Amino acid sequence: MVRFCARCGVEEAQDRPIINGLCPQCYIETKSPIYMPNDIEVVYCPRCYSLKIRGRWIPVSSYEDFMERVSTLITSNIKCRDGNVKILSVKTKLEFEEPKAVVTLTISLAQKAVSVLDYVVRIKWRRSLCPTCFRRAGGTFSAVIQVRFFNYDIRLVNKIKDLVLSREFANDIIEIEDNKWGFDIKVNSPFVAKRIVDVLRRSIKIPSRVVESVGDIRRRRDGKRYGKLYLSLRFINVKQGDYVVYRGRAYTVSVVGEKEVILRDSDGRKVKVKISEFVGGLKR
Ligand SMILES: [Zn+2]
Ligand SMILES: [Zn+2]
Repeated sequence: MVRFCARCGVEEAQDRPIINGLCPQCYIETKSPIYMPNDIEVVYCPRCYSLKIRGRWIPVSSYEDFMERVSTLITSNIKCRDGNVKILSVKTKLEFEEPKAVVTLTISLAQKAVSVLDYVVRIKWRRSLCPTCFRRAGGTFSAVIQVRFFNYDIRLVNKIKDLVLSREFANDIIEIEDNKWGFDIKVNSPFVAKRIVDVLRRSIKIPSRVVESVGDIRRRRDGKRYGKLYLSLRFINVKQGDYVVYRGRAYTVSVVGEKEVILRDSDGRKVKVKISEFVGGLKR
């Protein structure tokens, strides 16, 4: 007796066995026996190309080694969750910093049919300096960004650090040094320093203020004076109940809105101030 696929009606054939009442194609479509991740994050060091895998930094010996490890990172997440299905081979096609990879699986179904399946996996490439490259950097820096906060907030600190290290200028960062007010980013070019400040002010949706100064001024052999550029970037992340000195008077922050803050003085009088004015009039 000829068997049919209960879903699409196709007849059983030599290369098309009926498994649990379904043809191979319908079986795969309805049971989705393979788990394939939709997206994956690849963290690598932009200087030495070490990879951060499951929390550990793994050095690589060559470009091929790097790509091979990324492939493994992707395919190690594949799971077969069906006893009728066996993965025969896995092939990955990917390019460095391309946002996706194609994973081709050859599977056998109930030991009777072989199917080839293509999956697209999105890849998020994230740059982050590895600890070794951080240490090695040392040496000369010509600009410092001092990232500071009205209220120290470790989550915000980490968010900003991640952002800085994930961007193209990660390569120009010599050191990130924590302190109790925030952290300092040392870079080798004043141009890059200004660009980082720019990007941070645009990306972090918290009002901020920048004060520029030049320090460590020395005279070079040719008689020109040069110094280090200091950019103090302060995020004014005030919250309700904070005590502030605005335009020489003391207030308690009553409401923090998107465009304005409401301040209360010691007599209980409320003043509404635009964020931009508030940031400008705050005592340093
Ligand atoms: Zn079918
Ligand atoms: Zn590195």
